[in-house]
Amino acid sequence: MNFNTALLHSAKQSLNEQGATLPPIYQVSAFAYDTAEQLENVFNNRAAGFSYSRVSNPTVSAFENRIAELEGGIGAVACSSGMAAITSALLNILQSGDEVIVSTGLFGGTIELFEDLSAFGIKAVFLDSITYDTVTAAANDSTKAVFSELIGNPKLDVVDIADVSRACREKGIPLIIDSTTATPYLVNPISEGADIVIHSSSKYINGSGNSISGIIVDSGRFRWDPAKYPGFEKYRKFGPFAFLSKLRNGIWRNTGACLSPFNAYMNMIGLETLGLRMQTCCSNASKLAEFFSTLDNIEVNYPGLPSSPYFDIVQRELGGKGGAIITIRAGSKEKAFRLMNKIRYACVATNIGDVRTLVIHPASTIYTHSTDKQRISAGVYDDTIRISVGIEDIDDLIADFRQAAAEL
Ligand SMILES: *Cc1c(COP(=O)(O)O)cnc(C)c1O
Repeated sequence: MNFNTALLHSAKQSLNEQGATLPPIYQVSAFAYDTAEQLENVFNNRAAGFSYSRVSNPTVSAFENRIAELEGGIGAVACSSGMAAITSALLNILQSGDEVIVSTGLFGGTIELFEDLSAFGIKAVFLDSITYDTVTAAANDSTKAVFSELIGNPKLDVVDIADVSRACREKGIPLIIDSTTATPYLVNPISEGADIVIHSSSKYINGSGNSISGIIVDSGRFRWDPAKYPGFEKYRKFGPFAFLSKLRNGIWRNTGACLSPFNAYMNMIGLETLGLRMQTCCSNASKLAEFFSTLDNIEVNYPGLPSSPYFDIVQRELGGKGGAIITIRAGSKEKAFRLMNKIRYACVATNIGDVRTLVIHPASTIYTHSTDKQRISAGVYDDTIRISVGIEDIDDLIADFRQAAAEL
């Protein structure tokens, strides 16, 4: 099956005993059983079943199965937000004294999370670029994971997963990839060599900006040596499912970062048009970026442009599509604000992956708590505008940005 067909007809669509074309919304907290013995068995993982929606829920499971299948993982765990997914995945692996290699081009919230984790003795080692060489040089005995975004938001640096995963394999550490901005439409990070994939499904997977959620997908390939990852000792018996079992029975369940059944349902609806939306968003982004490159007063950054240092990786890894986010530099903060205030179609909003085009000034919003150095390394300057390109007619978008950029 090709991508769009698989979105609608893939095999793991369960829960439709009545012929329902979408999974029913099991909007309940608890599941009742006839006997105490049955509930005992469910609680102790001796029988399949649901007990409490913080632990599992049929609608949420349907969403998890769809994403796991789409990403080529052995399973997935859905979370209340993208940040909850990142937090749960990291805390499932790390303990005090551990180090993580991370890219400086990360989403602002994730950079702040790594600051929070430092209070618990977890150290983030920031690298300006994540490659075979930089990871090999930075890894030491305390390094327990590499975490990077596939297409950095908003730096728009593209990581060569095959290259970096080689370094991770040699060092015996897992590669965790936040693939929010790439989506399974552009690439499956697992088939390129990533061990764990995370999405803020609030973005392209949902597609209409109507629910906050996140998801963690595991390849099942990484071998968690208990000598290096002591928390995995009691999960060895689960073999390739060790990471997912530990996550479900541990930090994810106990911090209560579960996804609501209703939001899982909204994501399932969004998922059906992921291919159509991404096709249009990426094509629009590419045309809009080309338009910006013809303007003298605007500097444009888009990985799909031949002028981008990531152009070759985009051809090889992302099938030639540079994603749906562009950043532009307007010359000064005042000019950036003036441009944003003159745009008619794009919404001034802090989100990406919506069907609507959205613009934001990252320096004064998402990166307002960051230091100057953090901002610059994340590709965020005083005059940077991030554009999350939507599905509007491209002629309208270009005309709108043309008039807004006319008298800067
Ligand atoms: C939005 C975003 C997140 C955080 O996701 P939420 O759903 O807002 O918690 C993480 N990573 C990237 C790349 C994002 O764009």
